[in-house]
Amino acid sequence: MTVSARETPMMKQYLSVKAEHPDAIVFYRMGDFYEMFLEDAELAAPLLDITLTSRDKNKPDPVPMCGVPVHAADQHIKTLAGLGHKVAICEQVEDARKAGGKRLVRRAVIEVVTPGLVGDPTGIAAESEVALVAVDLARVGEAGLAVMDASTGDFRATVLVSDGGEDSAALPEALLHEIERISPRELLVSAQWAEGLRSALEPGLPNLVVTELGASEFDPSSVPVTPEGFEASTDDAAMRASSALLRYVGANQPFSLAHMPRLRSYALVDTMLLDAATRAHLELFENAEDRGRKGTLVEQVDCSVTPLGARRLARWLAYPLIDSAAIRDRQDAVAFFAARDRPRARLREAMKGVRDLERLLARAVRPGSVPRDLGQLRSSLLALPDVVESLESPVEGLLGREDDGTSPSLVVAPVPVPDLAARLRDALIDEPPVIAKGSRGAHETGYIREGYRSELDALRESAEKGREWIAGLEAQERERSGIAKLKICYHPVHGYSLEVPKSQLANVPDDYERKQTLANVERFTTERLREVEVKVMGASERAAELERSLFDELRIAVAESAVAIRAAAAAVSELDAFAALAETARQRSWIRPEVDDTQRLEIRGGRHPVVEALLEQSGADGFVANDTLLDTGDAQILLLTGPNMSGKSTYLRQVALIALLGQMGSFVPAESAKIGIVDRIFTRVGASDRLARGESTFMVEMRETAEILRQASSRSLVILDEIGRGTSTFDGLAIAWAVAEYLHDTSGLTARTLFATHYHELIELALTKPRVRNAHFDAREYQGEVVFLRRLVTGGASRSYGIQVARLAGLPASVIARATEILANLEGGELDARGRPRLARGAEDATHTAEEKGGASPSGESQLAFALATAGSPNEEEREALDALRTADLDRITPVDALLELRRLKELLTSESEGGD
Ligand code: ADP
Repeated sequence: MTVSARETPMMKQYLSVKAEHPDAIVFYRMGDFYEMFLEDAELAAPLLDITLTSRDKNKPDPVPMCGVPVHAADQHIKTLAGLGHKVAICEQVEDARKAGGKRLVRRAVIEVVTPGLVGDPTGIAAESEVALVAVDLARVGEAGLAVMDASTGDFRATVLVSDGGEDSAALPEALLHEIERISPRELLVSAQWAEGLRSALEPGLPNLVVTELGASEFDPSSVPVTPEGFEASTDDAAMRASSALLRYVGANQPFSLAHMPRLRSYALVDTMLLDAATRAHLELFENAEDRGRKGTLVEQVDCSVTPLGARRLARWLAYPLIDSAAIRDRQDAVAFFAARDRPRARLREAMKGVRDLERLLARAVRPGSVPRDLGQLRSSLLALPDVVESLESPVEGLLGREDDGTSPSLVVAPVPVPDLAARLRDALIDEPPVIAKGSRGAHETGYIREGYRSELDALRESAEKGREWIAGLEAQERERSGIAKLKICYHPVHGYSLEVPKSQLANVPDDYERKQTLANVERFTTERLREVEVKVMGASERAAELERSLFDELRIAVAESAVAIRAAAAAVSELDAFAALAETARQRSWIRPEVDDTQRLEIRGGRHPVVEALLEQSGADGFVANDTLLDTGDAQILLLTGPNMSGKSTYLRQVALIALLGQMGSFVPAESAKIGIVDRIFTRVGASDRLARGESTFMVEMRETAEILRQASSRSLVILDEIGRGTSTFDGLAIAWAVAEYLHDTSGLTARTLFATHYHELIELALTKPRVRNAHFDAREYQGEVVFLRRLVTGGASRSYGIQVARLAGLPASVIARATEILANLEGGELDARGRPRLARGAEDATHTAEEKGGASPSGESQLAFALATAGSPNEEEREALDALRTADLDRITPVDALLELRRLKELLTSESEGGD
């Protein structure tokens, strides 16, 4: 009976491995390949774009199969993990020769790569985190959240409480915001919450993989390891979330448990809250255009020289501080470095050698690490003393150079790890090779330096001698037998043999013993060959084995120094971040803001950090600096009117960015700045890209506005740009008006607010609301063209210059002329005192404004308003035409639509008058 292809010993071994990892794609090591079988093969082949074949084609029930070469496996593993799959890497865990070809080599899964546990971090952008998040929701109204970046050894946890205003059974809003801020690759949560979290997070994090865990995984007792900072307290949601994380890491990458990083508790109340909309609107990390880094704030402030510093800066920017003393500590450090150009340059030069110490550590301690990984870690470790020296050097060092011999408390030199660095230097050759992952027992050796271990040197020497003996033996045997084509060959399982072509078998000497018969040759051995073989094979095999075990010892030594290495990396990351902020401050002439606990925001000569840089690059006219004064008790709301393109949006963001930079500890682009701590920045700015996800811009806009009104406090900074724009003019104006009033009048809310609008009717708000100030960007009309001066002046804008902008944009002259005519009519209508609803409460106010504006009265030239004023109340068609004109958004309408609309209106009115005849 033929055995089914699924019943071979190898397939049995495979199936038992697969049974332990049912939810992962198993990469089963066979020689130089990882093979996938059955459903795994069918799933992975199209995803990896590789050929699907089958094993044992001739047996009944052949097995679908595909494979990837070991040297290219990392890329494929990343692809699958990136698509949300887990990959279990199953290696041969004994030397093939030990099994002697007679039984199956033992295999075991040594690592499972998941979307949030990438294993080898090569190729991941230096400044981004590879976050795995676990969330515990066992108790109503609170959530525990733990985050780990296994590639850098960052492990932190917090508890988020719902603010009570929400439905207590719902997910705490703060939790969703925090997950969005972290933007993890994978989220661990107990099954009952998985669907809810998935759908709540889907809009902001479409690629997030949610992995469901059993409730017991969150139990803090009997976790596989208890890192420093972890407490087995079932009362603490942060610890419960951390427990799930530790178990998940233990189950998938058990080798990491040996050097688990310290668990750090953090509290969101210590930092400024920034929701996803605000981060997007302010373009902190991603630009609105293509979600890239170009044109973002982080691009402007980050001139760090190591990936460690880049990640530290990104963290500071994502979590600005709200404790003024802590901010001043950071400022001290930045100021210290900013005041010392040459020492700072020396320090930055020295730090370049440190590279990505954290990720090099993560790579080095993996079971699949290769000699080159340790080599790279070694060069980073060897660079640490240079960093220390650059800080201390008596000529132009930093530490101890302050007048009183001290430096700011946050400036701390890294502590090098000299013993490990020296050991790695002595043990490994200068350029250690990359050996295919997991190629245990393979013959690439020689990466351990000569002289490191005398035993190894001796073995290598005898192996070398043995090879010489064998070469000599081949020549002797050729001569003795007269077989010119005789050779000595080597096989990893069968060892050394004398190989003779079949045609020459007659000449084989009597003392040759037959070992193997192949198609064209026969293989023999002799007593002498056996003797030499024992010596040679013994020596080279033992040399390779010894080398491998010395390598493992080094890996263990590295893992044992993990704490020290991480501490050094942390010190360098801070130095790099401070020096980078100082460098930016010096290059861009930024100043140190005064940060205090008032509710004022006072900026003189402020600039937009990104727009200024872009203008500089493009060689355009320089950026025009502007002042800001906001104060909860006085100038609470600054209402900005003025034409499109005048600079309103830029200004709004500039103010928010200056506050944010100040609170992360950076200097800011201004002549001087006083920042009363902002607890949260809210923005409602510009069009949103969620349109693509099926929500109307207006809906998104209103949702964001609702959130602001619900959550802002008197310490917040609120940025509202063109609110109410996505609907008809009257709706929009009414909403904008009411929102502004609400922000002004609601006690406890009264946030410092910048409110930009093209509804210049809103300037009347200042007449009734004492803490509203009007301002606008100066624009001049010059020969019928509008010239933007980018200068902020007090008072409301009298005109919106929409038509001038339309002319700039190339609308046909006849449309512009007609629009000008219509505008005059509308403005006449707006100022008509005949019982029309006033926008401001109190008729005197409005009259006052009407005079200020010097509105035109209806002229006699066949104008609509004139017609209406003389013809009594308008009929239905006229009303429709008027409504259409009032609601027409001239800033947005295309030239063609404007023409079509004009024609329609005209027809409407003429057909009416004809009909009336
Ligand atoms: P608005 O919001 O009023 O439509 P924007 O803020 O988008 O106007 O500004 C329009 C353009 O003007 C921007 O692209 C920017 O390049 C330029 N700009 C804005 N503010 C300034 C300034 N203070 N100095 C120089 N150029 C500026």
